[in-house]
Amino acid sequence: MRVAVFATKPYDRRFLVEANRRTGHHLTFLEARLDATTASLAAGHQAVCAFVNDRLDAAVLGRLAELGIRLVAMRCAGYNNVDLQAAGTLGVTVVRVPAYSPHAVAEFTIGLLLALDRNIHRAWARVRENNFALDGLIGRNLHGRTMGVVGTGRIGALVARSLRLGFGCHVLASDVHRDPELEAAGVRYTDPATLLAESDVVTLHCPLTPETHHLIDARAIAAARPGLMIVNTSRGALIDTPALIEGLKSRRIGGVALDVYEQEADLFFEDLSNEIVQDDDFQRLLTFPNVLVTGHQAFLTEEALTSIAETTLSSIADAEAGRPLPHAVHRQQVTRTA
Ligand code: NAD
Repeated sequence: MRVAVFATKPYDRRFLVEANRRTGHHLTFLEARLDATTASLAAGHQAVCAFVNDRLDAAVLGRLAELGIRLVAMRCAGYNNVDLQAAGTLGVTVVRVPAYSPHAVAEFTIGLLLALDRNIHRAWARVRENNFALDGLIGRNLHGRTMGVVGTGRIGALVARSLRLGFGCHVLASDVHRDPELEAAGVRYTDPATLLAESDVVTLHCPLTPETHHLIDARAIAAARPGLMIVNTSRGALIDTPALIEGLKSRRIGGVALDVYEQEADLFFEDLSNEIVQDDDFQRLLTFPNVLVTGHQAFLTEEALTSIAETTLSSIADAEAGRPLPHAVHRQQVTRTA
């Protein structure tokens, strides 16, 4: 199939080209992000492959449908940036990669937590300046502390298990579905309010839905245990950034590690080192010593990129051959994981 692959970086191309040896699609790699101004670049193709910060709203999907695109292959798990209602109406099928490597994201989450908690990011900067002083770098043991895991699906379950069985933490969890294996491992499910009130650290692994939008807002921060640390490797809009900044300023929040950010579409995946960043909230976040930000890289392992490329291209091959599409996203899933 002829596929227009939007928002590609050299690493995307490397893994897609390798996986395409088996599927033989005609891939056109585009650097441009997909939005209303770039949708026309899909002309002459039958499918579009897109990523987390591409915009697939009704207008863009309408333009793609006009160009004859009948398949959108998201090379990611989340699809909160796709208007599934519009896709259904236009007859555009959407597939995704539901589980490429939950280990990649879970391990990165633990890495962020350890770096933030033990001030590894600050130590690294100091040592580069030959500053070996330890003042201000005191951390806390993870062992024996209470960790709150919001969302115990593929990624959250790995994080909960690792914190419970690997580090000996008390682990609280909240989810709309309980995982009996986690309960057997000693993870205790509770309601979100109790989780916030009792946890030393909260790590977010639920999808972005209308219900979870700004899950961490001023009210949640006021009700949280003082000094709460937050890790977010899920989706930026789970957190209300101005409320988070106020929580950090008042020291109600003790530290934050973010791999995702609500307005990341204007920033992440690009080299902006010669630009003047206009996002004042983001810049303010970077000024706190107890804030650690990475640019949506939790998925970035060899294993995950291989799996993403293989699953995406085989879904496209299945669509071309008229086979069933196990990774199609259906409209009825909208309420749960859009
Ligand atoms: P998953 O679907 O396996 O698990 C999500 C869990 O959240 C499910 O158990 C679901 O029941 C639960 N949930 C839904 N609504 C909830 C709510 N209101 N409160 C608590 N729990 C709720 O998804 P996953 O594969 O574990 O991915 C989790 C998140 O991580 C997704 O949002 C995805 O977009 C994000 N992600 C980020 C990266 C990255 O590079 N940073 C990579 C992959 C996935």
